[in-house]
Amino acid sequence: MMAAYAAAKRGQTVRLYEKNEKLGKKIFITGKGRCNLTNGCEVEDLFANVVTNEKFLYSAFYGLTNRDVMELFEGWGCRLKVERGNRVFPVSDKSSDVIAAIAGAIRRAGVEIHLNEEVSSLELRGGRCVGVRMKGQKRPVEADAVIVATGGLSYPTTGSSGDGYRFAAEAGLAVTECLPALVPFEVLEDDAKELQGLALKNIEATVYNGKKVLYREFGEMLFTHFGVSGPVLLSASSYAAKALKKGPLSLSIDLKPALSGEQLDARILRDFEEAKIKQFKNALNHLYPQKMIPVIIARSGISPEKRVNEITREERQALVRATKDFRLTLTGLRGYNEAIITQGGVSVKEIDPSTMESKKVPGLYFAGEVLDLDAVTGGFNLQIAWATGYAAGMSAGE
Ligand SMILES: Cc1cc2nc3c(=O)[nH]c(=O)nc-3n(C[C@H](O)[C@H](O)[C@H](O)COP(=O)(O)OP(=O)(O)OC[C@H]3O[C@@H](n4cnc5c(N)ncnc54)[C@H](O)[C@@H]3O)c2cc1C
Repeated sequence: MMAAYAAAKRGQTVRLYEKNEKLGKKIFITGKGRCNLTNGCEVEDLFANVVTNEKFLYSAFYGLTNRDVMELFEGWGCRLKVERGNRVFPVSDKSSDVIAAIAGAIRRAGVEIHLNEEVSSLELRGGRCVGVRMKGQKRPVEADAVIVATGGLSYPTTGSSGDGYRFAAEAGLAVTECLPALVPFEVLEDDAKELQGLALKNIEATVYNGKKVLYREFGEMLFTHFGVSGPVLLSASSYAAKALKKGPLSLSIDLKPALSGEQLDARILRDFEEAKIKQFKNALNHLYPQKMIPVIIARSGISPEKRVNEITREERQALVRATKDFRLTLTGLRGYNEAIITQGGVSVKEIDPSTMESKKVPGLYFAGEVLDLDAVTGGFNLQIAWATGYAAGMSAGE
């Protein structure tokens, strides 16, 4: 949509083919239905939030910055607000308003919108891309330029079925391996499953591959019936996906990251002082959420019935360890049905970063998630889509 808008603004005749019955089906479900459409950070800070191929995005991000995106949408009548972590949302909290804004803009710009029309292949002739073939139609649609913005493989019900990867491969372009990312983890341990539904704020999660730290972040997480999810772990999945394909990884959750081991021990001692004759299992209410207590007790190895004034220093240390290094084995990732994005895609080595045109096949452009680009949560993935779409539209329209 952004590519179509930019090309039409350049005065070109633009046809947009969408196989769904409406535009922006995926945008509709973004940000839990509120659409976190970009991030209000400093422009240069966008790059640190890109997981794969940040350098490729230099020209596109400066060509249509996050500020420019906000200005465009505000100009199209969609008022915006900035929330925690600089996440930008429509004031209405409705993703449908984001879709309506850009859909209105492309209509006014004169883009011909073809709904329920699926592109089946690219039309390649003499080493150039000269149009597309539509499903169920014999004759190709001729065009001076074609922009492929078919998205990734995640949430396939929104229309992202990976057609663009096939188009790229058929045109002779390299496509890197695709993996689900920003996706929950499955874990081995049964006790984690007992914690199902428990959301924890202010934890620190570290993902290890052997001794190597793949990811460390402070924030919120959630236990589920299969493993772990929530903002910090979704982001962790983007950094762990490749290594996890080779074997299990280790997750350490620090449940009390604000306290050092000694400080936590002192805090436990204080709590135990106040509850001297209580049994261990009844002395932990101030330290852990209710659901966590039986699991922590089991992991500490201390008998739940033991009176707290009989607990030894070594036992307390085991409790500190269970708290500051709550270990889980990450065995796999959930699939594309639950993945916010696809990692991997059309190799950026094939693409000119300032125009989004294929280096090998003139007239063929790629934009958005179909490219081997991905970022953490916070509005950065849509920023990638808007910026690369804009760059492709501007240069194809030239
Ligand atoms: C649950 C969820 C929440 C998310 N939340 C956020 C968020 O809050 N902020 C954020 O920045 N990102 C978010 N994302 C990621 C973001 O939605 C995507 O990265 C972004 O939509 C990618 O844009 P795109 O235009 O490349 O692809 P898409 O949005 O997937 O659009 C591709 C379009 O191409 C169409 N298409 C595909 N193949 C064909 C074909 N052969 N012929 C015709 N049409 C075709 C599809 O139907 C689809 O409409 C979220 C993703 C999910 C799944």
